[in-house]
Amino acid sequence: MTYTPEQLAELDKRYIWHPFTQMQDWQQADPLIIASGDGVMLKDVHGKTYYDSISSLWVNVHGHNVPAINQAVKDQLEQIAHSTLLGSANVPSILLAERLAGVAPGDLSRVFYSDSGSESVEIALKMAYQYWQHEGETQRDRFIAMSNAYHGDTVGSVSLGGMDLFHQAFRGLIFPTVRAPYPNPYRFDGTGQECCDAALAELRKLLAPNRDRICGVVLEPLIQGAAGMITMPAGFLKGVEQLCREYNTLMIVDEVATGFGRTGRMFACEHEDVVPDIITMAKGITAGYLPLAATITNDRVYGAFLGPYEAMKTFFHGHSYTGNQLACAAALANLDLFEEKQTVQRVAEAEQRVASELSDWLDHPHIGDVRGRGLMWGIELIKDKNNGLEYEWQERIAIQICDRCRELGMLSRPLGNVLIFMPPLCSTDKELQAMLSILRRALDDITEC
Ligand code: PMP
Repeated sequence: MTYTPEQLAELDKRYIWHPFTQMQDWQQADPLIIASGDGVMLKDVHGKTYYDSISSLWVNVHGHNVPAINQAVKDQLEQIAHSTLLGSANVPSILLAERLAGVAPGDLSRVFYSDSGSESVEIALKMAYQYWQHEGETQRDRFIAMSNAYHGDTVGSVSLGGMDLFHQAFRGLIFPTVRAPYPNPYRFDGTGQECCDAALAELRKLLAPNRDRICGVVLEPLIQGAAGMITMPAGFLKGVEQLCREYNTLMIVDEVATGFGRTGRMFACEHEDVVPDIITMAKGITAGYLPLAATITNDRVYGAFLGPYEAMKTFFHGHSYTGNQLACAAALANLDLFEEKQTVQRVAEAEQRVASELSDWLDHPHIGDVRGRGLMWGIELIKDKNNGLEYEWQERIAIQICDRCRELGMLSRPLGNVLIFMPPLCSTDKELQAMLSILRRALDDITEC
């Protein structure tokens, strides 16, 4: 039986509770229902096409409907779709772990799979906590996380989160976290270097008295994504690494958004030659095909969990779909394409073009800041540049601009007053230009400039 677009919309409204969505608004709106995708384009059930300017929530890498990845998933399907990693192994998860260890920074080589970015962070937390138990430092029970951090929606990752808008409702449910100020050059009165030094000094002040209690310092490297693409000053990530070493705590880097070429290096840590103790990754790992995530650590952390069965050093964590074969097959094909198409180098080149175009936008009366790396950009809107007056969140300025983008044939989703430009890594110059033109037109239309 086939359904009309109208019937599908009705069924959606009847049965689906959408994530991060006020369903009362959704009930009134005309829902966009995607039917297919090709390259950087998506097509809805009416046949209208849209540029996917946020890579289907930051996951897409080589475009939609990529023959090589389609084939890899089909080939795997002919073998088996899924068997458990609890008590047995499977072929693609083994091959992928070897490849991930090859691309991950430094000595990170012990791969623990899960299904989403939030879970990969949840696992990092539990791994770090239990690591210190095994080291005999059972008093270590706190993590340091950054202001405005976002690490996912499970209770552990929400505990690390510092975004009131998302996390306020759950404050009574979560465990306490030590909050370090994240360096935001746009809102700092001084140079990038001073902003970096000030934030590192604050972090030191938190580490010094708590040195025996801190399990690890957790942060999004280079760019805080959900906070509005806040790009840290050069040297901060390296400084955090040095402080973690000085105060003998674990460095946990959340590369869920920044990983897999997004910032112009395979992992954002590489920009500052940083090698954390634990790294988390998801989103781009399967090129946006299937849910898969990984938490990768070094031999030091992994080794602490080894011991006789009776010693109870086992890492008691795992999910039904851990190491799913179809997802791992997609991830292997994704990594092959990274090599074949030199994706990371191409992103580094695309960065120059996007940066130069967006820097021209700074003249716009309602653009306060543009920032980003690679193909991960934020454009912060401001109501009045002369007196720094912000748009009230109730004005939904960025939402209105994204609604206009949709009319003009492009999907986008803002973060507060920040417009997001995060196209698939495969986007050509022409496609990047077309997407930026739509974004600019929508911005001008809504702000009447
Ligand atoms: N960490 C970071 C840095 C993220 O940006 C996100 C999602 N945007 C997550 C974790 C959570 O990932 P997921 O939505 O796959 O659970």
